[in-house]
Amino acid sequence: MTATRLIFLGPPGAGKGTQAKQLAQVMSIPHISTGDILRQALSEQTPLGIQAQSYMDQGELVPDQLVQEMVEERLAQTDAKGGWLLDGFPRTVKQAEFLEHLLHTKGENEEKVINLDVPDDVVVERLIARGRKDDTEEVIRRRLQVYRQETAPLIDYYKQKGQLLSVNGNQSPEVVTEELHRLINS
Ligand code: AMP
Repeated sequence: MTATRLIFLGPPGAGKGTQAKQLAQVMSIPHISTGDILRQALSEQTPLGIQAQSYMDQGELVPDQLVQEMVEERLAQTDAKGGWLLDGFPRTVKQAEFLEHLLHTKGENEEKVINLDVPDDVVVERLIARGRKDDTEEVIRRRLQVYRQETAPLIDYYKQKGQLLSVNGNQSPEVVTEELHRLINS
């Protein structure tokens, strides 16, 4: 059986986490969310969590080096041998290059990249409605800015490599799920 390796891209508030979790479950691959791993580290106050905290609190990206080490370690675990779904990583072109290199050295480089496409005004609305602890208006605004500057360029990056699949995320969650399944199985 060939391993399924998926990367989920999309702005904060696109419904990425929910869809990613569900799809990973259906496909029996681990859902690897760097945001979840970092929040867990933060709640346990591990050295990683302590280092990441101020960045996360301000809606900034945690430095590439820290996140990259964390992802490398996670992808080396046994349950990731048969594939995985990465949610929230890569977030910068540097991270994407790191991942490409890492997978290349392992002889694993046919991942698909799914972009959940959602217009800006919808994203802001959803983020405010979600009201997570770190979702103050200022932090939301900063996270969106960081997304546009650092992460959105990955859409073109993967498009040029012919790896990008796009899904309209501005539909009901059920329809998005259906489209995702169709896309993965085609
Ligand atoms: P998320 O749950 O994916 O929105 O991530 C929450 C926060 O964790 C982000 O605002 C960043 O501060 C940090 N974070 C998660 N993934 C990454 C990443 N790949 N690179 C840098 N920072 C990250």
